[in-house]
Amino acid sequence: METRPRHLDPALTALPPVPSPAAPDQAAHQPLLGLGLAELEDWAEAQGQPRFRGRQLHEWLYGRGVRSLEAITVLPRAWREKLGERPASGPHSPGPPQQSAGDQGAAPAAVGSTGPEPQPGRDLLGRSLLLHRSDARDGTTKLLLGTADGLSIETVGIPSGDRLTVCVSSQVGCPMACRFCATGKGGLQRSLAVHEIVDQVLSVREAMDRRPSHVVFMGMGEPLLNSEAVLAAIDCLCRDLGMAQRQITVSTVGVPQTLPNLAERALDRLGRAQFTLAVSLHAPDQRLREELIPTARAYPLDNLLEDCRRYVAITGRRVSFEYILLGGLNDQPRHAAALAALLRGFQSHVNLIPYNPIEEEEFQRPSPAAVEAFRGALAQRHIAVSVRTSRGLDQDAACGQLRRRLLSGPN
Ligand code: SAH
Repeated sequence: METRPRHLDPALTALPPVPSPAAPDQAAHQPLLGLGLAELEDWAEAQGQPRFRGRQLHEWLYGRGVRSLEAITVLPRAWREKLGERPASGPHSPGPPQQSAGDQGAAPAAVGSTGPEPQPGRDLLGRSLLLHRSDARDGTTKLLLGTADGLSIETVGIPSGDRLTVCVSSQVGCPMACRFCATGKGGLQRSLAVHEIVDQVLSVREAMDRRPSHVVFMGMGEPLLNSEAVLAAIDCLCRDLGMAQRQITVSTVGVPQTLPNLAERALDRLGRAQFTLAVSLHAPDQRLREELIPTARAYPLDNLLEDCRRYVAITGRRVSFEYILLGGLNDQPRHAAALAALLRGFQSHVNLIPYNPIEEEEFQRPSPAAVEAFRGALAQRHIAVSVRTSRGLDQDAACGQLRRRLLSGPN
């Protein structure tokens, strides 16, 4: 019997493994954010309170977006004070951070706060601190948020017509090390917990004073290395913030052995898998893809596409493919022709993303003419295609850039 995982070619096992994430121990330390109404009612009851206190907590956490227990003025003062006295290690204490060499993980001091000192009331709710805010001329707002253990994550609010899309992070840093990505330069510190993901959506809602309509997991991190928390966060966003799964996109560069499993678990956990899966393809052949994405060596393109087909078969949803256009490298007519051939007959949609320059790399932004020619070449071959316009370029729009600039000192 074949026991070796399908994608693990023996020749590839010598490659450095993708580190597995150290998620906080959620079962033991689940803060209130992320819990549904029934769970909050159970929690209130376990605290010796009437069940309706759970409904009040739900309304103030998700409806009003309070940041502290003291702010929930409908709760009896004595109870609030008692809960506020809990030790910081009580209800919420994320696991030890994974500090990678060369990465400056400690967060800068919070805006209008005392920094990542223990704050029992905040820790109980599970809200992050707003460390920094940066607004671009086109209306895009980027937030740097501080976790309870003093790390920082990026989240972006992108308004467009009557949409407000929140681009959320799923990890602190990222282990995938894609060459064009600023986040990948610092390695992975740890995965985010459910409350830290949901908090990003609430923080953008508060900062922009507007209800988010869409959420994309395209910030820092590789969502498929943290899929339990990602699915739980999607569940919470739909159940407690009234979003629809169809307004949510999960983007992955591909992790072996995870896609069909994600589809099955989404069906189990959420009852249906209607969020959009976006796969970061970036190259029409294995050789070029490996050059741009080192981890692709352990996940041949054919296997990735086969897993995408299985995902489509299980969920009935078409997959989006993201293709970053790097001037002169993968944006030529022959690349477009090869990509069209690769995706022929596949239920998919291609999103072209002109490269956002990052400091550490020499890649070129493609010319507008090359972007248009690439789009036209795909459309002519009957591939559904769109171009994602860059937003917030004047404020470090590329994934991970703001955090890297702020953490490496003033400039
Ligand atoms: N790890 C996941 C999600 C995070 S990246 C993934 O790779 O899909 C989200 C998207 O932003 C990906 O398509 C990624 O390739 C793209 N991206 C990263 N750095 C970029 C840059 N400098 N310019 C343009 N797009 C970038």
